[in-house]
Amino acid sequence: MITRALTLAHAHAEVAEGVIPGAGLTLAMSRGADTPPPARVLDISTLSELRGITKEDAHLRIGALVTMQQLRESEIVRQVLPALSQMAGEIGSAPLRRLATIGGNVAWGAGDLVPVLLAYRAKLLCAGAKVSIEAPQRRGLIEAVCIPLAPFALTFAEKAGLRESFSPSLITVAATARINDGKLHDVALAVGGGAEPPRRLPSSETALAADTPDALGGRLREVIEHEILGVETDERARLRARIAANLLADCLRENRP
Ligand SMILES: Cc1cc2nc3c(=O)[nH]c(=O)nc-3n(C[C@H](O)[C@H](O)[C@H](O)COP(=O)(O)OP(=O)(O)OC[C@H]3O[C@@H](n4cnc5c(N)ncnc54)[C@H](O)[C@@H]3O)c2cc1C
Repeated sequence: MITRALTLAHAHAEVAEGVIPGAGLTLAMSRGADTPPPARVLDISTLSELRGITKEDAHLRIGALVTMQQLRESEIVRQVLPALSQMAGEIGSAPLRRLATIGGNVAWGAGDLVPVLLAYRAKLLCAGAKVSIEAPQRRGLIEAVCIPLAPFALTFAEKAGLRESFSPSLITVAATARINDGKLHDVALAVGGGAEPPRRLPSSETALAADTPDALGGRLREVIEHEILGVETDERARLRARIAANLLADCLRENRP
């Protein structure tokens, strides 16, 4: 049964009771015929509070209902968050991008936008409080994504997949950094997408804070790969870690100060 959210307060109360919010409902398309639909879905697409892209003080507020197409078409997103603008254009097909929302992409957990948002140090706005993207259990209804408007000289995002499009990514990587006095500063590296749990890579970021990509040489790739792989021994996890480490190490070297 699909019911319509009447107000934002009504939506928060329903979601707190365990009702599933539905935005673009594109993930419902990919449910197999054998998968029963959820007993109750709350249609949140009517809530105007979850719409729009606005500049507020030192951050950009992107409403949870903003679609991939709207992200692509936004001039301010293209200017200040180029990696997010780029990745929004690489999600599914054009018809899917007209429906798929940023809130749904984040709440799903495997979305390709998540590592990009992590690299931009984004927070989620849930019931008026800013919460970490990496803490899904404390979220409830996502109202908006808030991203600090900090200019980064280095911004990078790349989705690695088995085919060109229409397949879930194997792994998605993203990076941001400032460049000062010939050195990289405030480096953020993130992975996610597909089967890879979305997260920042703090050990690799610390290694880069102490040394330049050139000084780290081949060790840079090793440090990143080791951190992504952790204790995993699965062959596909190894492949994902290797691809991600190559992409991130190459990007950091190519953009070195
Ligand atoms: C053919 C196809 C290709 C796809 N390709 C890609 C791809 O390349 N990359 C990618 O990342 N994804 C892809 N997807 C997955 C998905 O469509 C997108 O991630 C999309 O952004 C989900 O948004 P939605 O608005 O449709 O979410 P919905 O399907 O409405 O919801 C998805 C989940 O998020 C929850 N949710 C939605 N909005 C909120 C909110 N505001 N607060 C809390 N929870 C919420 C829902 O309860 C549900 O659990 C693809 C899907 C299909 C069918």
